[in-house]
Amino acid sequence: MKYVFLFLLVQSSFVAFAQHQDKVDFIHGKVAIQIAPKTKTITGSVAYKLKVLQKVDTVFLDAQNINTIEVKLNNKKVETTNNGETIVVYKRLKANKTYTLDITYTANPKQAVYFLGWTDDVAGNEQVWTQGQGKYTSHWLPSFDDMTEKVEYDLDISFNKNYEVIANGALVGTKELDGLRKWSFNMENPMSSYLLAFVIGDYHRKEIVSHTGIPIDLYHYPSDSLLVEPTYRYTKEIFDFFEKEIGVAYPWQNYKQIPVRDFLYAGMENTGTTVFSDSYVMDSIAFTDRNYVNVNAHEMAHQWFGDFVTEVDGSSHWLHEGFATYYALLAEKELFGKEYYYWKLYESAIQLQELSNKNKGEALIDPKASSLTFYEKGAWALHVLKYQIGEESFRKGIQQYLKKYGFKNATIDDFIGEMELVTGYDLGIFRNKWLVDQEFPFDVAKKILIRESEDLNTFFKIQREMMISSMANESIIKRFWNTTKSEMLKAKIIKTYYKSLSQDFLKEIFETKNVVLRQALAVSAGQLPLDLKSEYESLLGDDSYITIEEMLYKLWINYPNERVKYLNKTKGIIGFSNKNIRLLWLSLALLTKDFEPNNTNDYYVELSGYTSPVYSYEVRQLAFQFLEQLIGFSDKNLLDLVDATQHHSWQFRKYTRTLLDQLLEKKEYRDRIGGLRVKLNEEELRYISNKLISE
Ligand SMILES: [Zn+2]
Repeated sequence: MKYVFLFLLVQSSFVAFAQHQDKVDFIHGKVAIQIAPKTKTITGSVAYKLKVLQKVDTVFLDAQNINTIEVKLNNKKVETTNNGETIVVYKRLKANKTYTLDITYTANPKQAVYFLGWTDDVAGNEQVWTQGQGKYTSHWLPSFDDMTEKVEYDLDISFNKNYEVIANGALVGTKELDGLRKWSFNMENPMSSYLLAFVIGDYHRKEIVSHTGIPIDLYHYPSDSLLVEPTYRYTKEIFDFFEKEIGVAYPWQNYKQIPVRDFLYAGMENTGTTVFSDSYVMDSIAFTDRNYVNVNAHEMAHQWFGDFVTEVDGSSHWLHEGFATYYALLAEKELFGKEYYYWKLYESAIQLQELSNKNKGEALIDPKASSLTFYEKGAWALHVLKYQIGEESFRKGIQQYLKKYGFKNATIDDFIGEMELVTGYDLGIFRNKWLVDQEFPFDVAKKILIRESEDLNTFFKIQREMMISSMANESIIKRFWNTTKSEMLKAKIIKTYYKSLSQDFLKEIFETKNVVLRQALAVSAGQLPLDLKSEYESLLGDDSYITIEEMLYKLWINYPNERVKYLNKTKGIIGFSNKNIRLLWLSLALLTKDFEPNNTNDYYVELSGYTSPVYSYEVRQLAFQFLEQLIGFSDKNLLDLVDATQHHSWQFRKYTRTLLDQLLEKKEYRDRIGGLRVKLNEEELRYISNKLISE
């Protein structure tokens, strides 16, 4: 999976404590469920086929708050208990025999299944989707929290036929039954329970096919057909690159990607069925600023590293996240060039060095390490390993590892053992330095960057000269500037040394017409010199939402007499999916004296309306921020805020809970929120009542 905010150092919270059953092997699971979205109920059955390896008296399944209606073993009722966490079946089972275990159940999952848009009156925004990693599939299906139990699952899902149902495996048929449609999916290979997934909603599908003939389905909302190309750009290239680079065929029958609203992470690599945040659905302009390519490649790489070969437990999490991050970087290197790859390694090295300098460095074998360690230090470790043993050995080792542990589980030691076997190297020193040590060896990383990357070699030279030389800064910069063609190096120079650049030099950069360099100027600028006014104004016409957002604000602040002109120039631009430009524009329009006085009320209504739950939490959060700073909150905003404190996204929940606490410190808001109690639902009331009493 991939976290949205890497810099938050999210702790991996999915260290499983599931019990392992080594005397039975669950081979197949036939799931048939029906979903009632309005009551958030899942009803159905699962039929497991299990092989007994050694005689046992009990068999158990993880089942969080699941009500069992009936449990049958080999078609006969059997003694069971269900304590709300585990279903235990009591029966003496003989070795080397195969049994069937049928469970009929209902569930009202509090997590792992999310129901969106079923209570508002917006047509077409209804969704149901799952998130198994860290949330446990056993909330909606009696299954296995233990990742080492791999089962071949086939899903039947019955639902209203006006929606699309998507799940792991190949769709083998649909059938109309009792006013519902049943979608039947077939898997051919086993997977861990946390990788089971389904998505329901209003979707269209565009099918492409890999070089090797694997169908790749690109799902999108019906209104987003024009965004399919920029959103999914390079999908086939990445897929084909992985099959070639890894050298082991894609392990599953097909591959699907489905955007969903208010997702918990950037993306999640369910088997053959990646679910990702619809904030990555974007147009061509947004593509230059930030795009889905990295997340796309990351989740796809997990199909081998995580789904095909799965960690035994959290202490081998490097095998998932480090590998997915590394292979995604390789895909980006293939698409965007070698220097792009090294700049990303450099940026992550800087972050890791900061962590290390604060004495907060973490070992990759620590199951409680942060995402920065698992992802970025993990990718660095693989880069170094490949360098040390050579590309050919590295690839051979990876192939052996995948072949040996495919559809099974592995530990870091299994991986290292396989690499040593293939290459004949002793990897003890590597293992200690990169996997066991907590410190990030920045000096080693820097040496590698200097040796392998022309850009970084130059950049470190500039840094050094700027520190020790007595020459004028700009003359040092210019000397290097004139010898490089790298856009990324030039952008980095602008961002790092903006204040040392003369107006003449800035003018030259403006004239390059290069969107990336001009964006670096927009981001770095503070005070805008009068002599370059028209140059800075010209940035408002660039094809970059970052540039436009930065400059609309900075121009509005720097040249108060021209505010109307800037607002007119950017009227109607929405920006990213979080509507960054539109929300800024509305706020500035309201703050600009005499700007369209007849429309002021409409603009306020629009801005204020964006806190509503019908919008994605990214939009809502921005709206709360602007309203808080500029205008204050209406009663409806306050109700939306209390609603948001119960949101399933922890980032948004945390933001809105903090904001609510701040408001409650002010008497005016305390009184108003107190007065709104009658309009709150039970859950909201429970949350807020404590706060109103305790203070
Ligand atoms: Zn991941």
